[in-house]
Amino acid sequence: MKKELEKKLIEKFPRLFKGKGMPLTENLMSFGCEINDGWYDLMYETCTKLNDFPVILVQVKEKFAGLRIYIDPDDNLIKNMTKYEISEVFKKAYQIINDMEEKSFTICEVCGKEGKTYVRNYWYKTLCEDHKKEFEYQEIKEFKEKKRENDKKETEN
Ligand SMILES: [Zn+2]
Repeated sequence: MKKELEKKLIEKFPRLFKGKGMPLTENLMSFGCEINDGWYDLMYETCTKLNDFPVILVQVKEKFAGLRIYIDPDDNLIKNMTKYEISEVFKKAYQIINDMEEKSFTICEVCGKEGKTYVRNYWYKTLCEDHKKEFEYQEIKEFKEKKRENDKKETEN
């Protein structure tokens, strides 16, 4: 994501982005949001929703053509919470993250127009019709199955 766009997010949601100053062994936000600019609005919407939760961003990236976000608890805000309360927070926050990932499969990652997931050389990307043509991507039918297989592999590892 362009530096100036990311800067807008950081200025609006400084608490969510505080991992930017942390060492990479703890938090990967120093790499920035590893997504294209077309998902800026989606990212803004996601941050608006997550800002109500005592969490911080750990990693933001594109994975398998979708917006993938990882979070950690915000240590300052969970001090007086029980384990149960924290696990409830995470359940709800990840529900939002999963909903936003679902939505990302309908938005061109390059320009933000309506899109869907296409493939090129086994590389998946969510693009609009124009960017699909420009980058020579192709239609896919079996995308959901492929993704499910990959998720399964990830949980097995
Ligand atoms: Zn596009």
